[in-house]
Amino acid sequence: MSRVSGWFLGARLGAQQVDLGVSDGFVTAIEEAGSAARPGAVLGSGGRITPHLAEPHVHLDATQIGARVLNVSGTLQEGIANWSAVRDELTAQDVTARARQTVSWYVSWGCTRIRTHVDTGSLVAVDALLRLRESLAHEGVTLQVAAFPQEGILRAPGRQQAWEEAARRGCDAVGAIPHFERTTAEGARSVALAFQLADRLDVQVDLHCDETDDPGSRHLEVACTEALARGWADRVIAGHCTAMHSYPDPIAARAIEQVVASGVQVVCNPLDNVVLQGRHDGYPRRRGLTRMDELLAAGATVGIGHDSVVDPWYRLGDANLVRAAAMLVHVGQLTGEAEMEAVLSLLWGSNHRCFGGAPTLAVGQPADLLWWPVGDAAEILRIAPRPAVYANGRRIGTPPPRGSGADAP
Ligand SMILES: [Zn+2]
Repeated sequence: MSRVSGWFLGARLGAQQVDLGVSDGFVTAIEEAGSAARPGAVLGSGGRITPHLAEPHVHLDATQIGARVLNVSGTLQEGIANWSAVRDELTAQDVTARARQTVSWYVSWGCTRIRTHVDTGSLVAVDALLRLRESLAHEGVTLQVAAFPQEGILRAPGRQQAWEEAARRGCDAVGAIPHFERTTAEGARSVALAFQLADRLDVQVDLHCDETDDPGSRHLEVACTEALARGWADRVIAGHCTAMHSYPDPIAARAIEQVVASGVQVVCNPLDNVVLQGRHDGYPRRRGLTRMDELLAAGATVGIGHDSVVDPWYRLGDANLVRAAAMLVHVGQLTGEAEMEAVLSLLWGSNHRCFGGAPTLAVGQPADLLWWPVGDAAEILRIAPRPAVYANGRRIGTPPPRGSGADAP
């Protein structure tokens, strides 16, 4: 597609209303809305302009399998069983095709930086996603791969070796799943091992951390202690942290204090966790999301992941991060005006941290931007509209046909 030239008129950009000019792939003007005549094409009127979105947490090795192997009970346990059943037969071609499909969905919703976790139990999937990372780099999409030991590092012989081998093949981050190890002590040891491996390989740490309703699962504090000791303020993500929902208040307050002090980023995955957590509860049933309101109020760095897109754990979803933000706003009771703005803006703000930080839009920079037809955070959350996606001034991200790839056999 050719590069567009013209103006977005009267669009919200941050807290301002601006006219934003684009030409030859660059932003050429950002001026107060209506302050002068703007000859040329009108690319959009009103609405809002933001940077592209970033996805810090998805599983592209398992994506699009949810419609192939149905999770009849809808539970985490059956999801794990279904995944184990297909994992050993994965082919590179299949992994790549499914991952590409979901990446195209992400791009169509304005997300061009994606961190995928990959189960280190399948080196076929690891290699396929590392190769896909190279191809996508030529297509304007940044893919990061995190080595994720789905079935633990210490639970059985051979798992630690597979996890280390996967990381060594060139992953961008090292993961762990401490709450899934056999004991609390082994969970803590797995966190320490992840930091040591990340140190040796000079990569980031990205944990599936305390994804349980057990208030005794406190590996987040272990991760914060490691991060603080190493001074890795912007190098560590703790994903899920759902146990914090069930911590006694003083323990949660202490954990949040450590998150803030260490700089560890807590990434909440509202779509999966609202359906997977609380499954052992009768009523009242816990919501199973980490304490995003308290984390935000304390000034912690947080983020939002989609986590699953049509996979064995969650057969729903369409890679639209606004839907994940909308779920968080509902379940986390973050419906104050400022709260909705804070939650939504994570998608183009802190979600970018693991990719080197949030992009800014300024005159002279490439025209990598989204134009949303509505401007208010509440309106974007309410209707989850598809933004117009521009990269270097070119319109990208053709929407996929309805129902593509996600129908049950
Ligand atoms: Zn995950």
